[in-house]
Amino acid sequence: MPDILVIGSLNADLVVRAPRFPQPGETISGENLQILPGGKGANQAVAAARLGTSVSMLGRVGKDTFGDFLLDNLQVNKVDSQLVQRDDASTGTAIIVVDANGQNSIVLSPGANGKVSPADVRTVSISGFKLLLLQLEIPIETVLSAAQRAKESGLRVLLNPAPARSLPDELISLPDFLVPNETELGLLTDQTVNDISSAENASKRLLKRGAQRIIVTLSANGALIVTKENTKHIPSFRVNVVDTTAAGDAFIGGFASALLQNIALEEAVRYGCACGALSTTKFGAQPSLPTKEEVENFISKAPAAVSKMPRSGTGGEDAA
Ligand code: ADP
Repeated sequence: MPDILVIGSLNADLVVRAPRFPQPGETISGENLQILPGGKGANQAVAAARLGTSVSMLGRVGKDTFGDFLLDNLQVNKVDSQLVQRDDASTGTAIIVVDANGQNSIVLSPGANGKVSPADVRTVSISGFKLLLLQLEIPIETVLSAAQRAKESGLRVLLNPAPARSLPDELISLPDFLVPNETELGLLTDQTVNDISSAENASKRLLKRGAQRIIVTLSANGALIVTKENTKHIPSFRVNVVDTTAAGDAFIGGFASALLQNIALEEAVRYGCACGALSTTKFGAQPSLPTKEEVENFISKAPAAVSKMPRSGTGGEDAA
């Protein structure tokens, strides 16, 4: 039985680069179409598997060629796909236009991801897994039912509340680890989060709503751990950034893999930060997810990590 179960989305990302975005009613020419595997669920599953962690994915894809493509990709990356069902709906697809400035504009068609149901979770035996990874690209009732089931079966639960939205209190309190980025934390708490201090304040609101442990990813500023006991800032690693796509997914794959090693929470977050930082040094989502060897090599050579965050308010580094 694999250690990690990911219940989440699988998408085909259709990417076209164009000089600019078309106006309504306008047709413009872009470059060659790229078809890439994506979806937060699949990205996080692959992120953990690249690090040598055993991972199983539960989800749905269509009975179409994109579905074949995504299942092949899981297999290539050594993610167990036995729990991925084929649905009559089309495979989840993201249609992405990237302009000359690197900005993107996306239309998401959830397709089969929208059909992942509480019944899909109920019919599977999950008690042998150690950790459940969840995101919000499948129906919220399925996410809730998966979290409930996991807690009944003694699994630890990590919820990455992405894409950003508000959540019922139960989904705040059930997970052992809530891992939002700044935007997601802002939406969850209805307040602006743009530095360590505001991330700490917003996280404390989630603690009041019953959250157990919040790990806020802060892009180039690393991550912030907020628990009932204390707050701890983990600085980022310095890298030459090429493309930040999927940094959050790389962080979660790394953090989750490290948690299974029974190391201290801070060390697991630091490992996640190394994975997130490394992923920004390469283009693309899944192609940028690092292997275990790459991360170990990077950590052993990394200069002392430095926080680039100006100190503000009460939420500075090492705030107890
Ligand atoms: P998301 O992709 O979900 O928005 P973040 O941008 O917060 O997530 O990135 C996740 C993690 O990746 C961060 O906590 C950080 O450790 C690392 N990371 C992201 N961007 C950078 C960067 N520019 N330099 C160093 N580390 C980074």
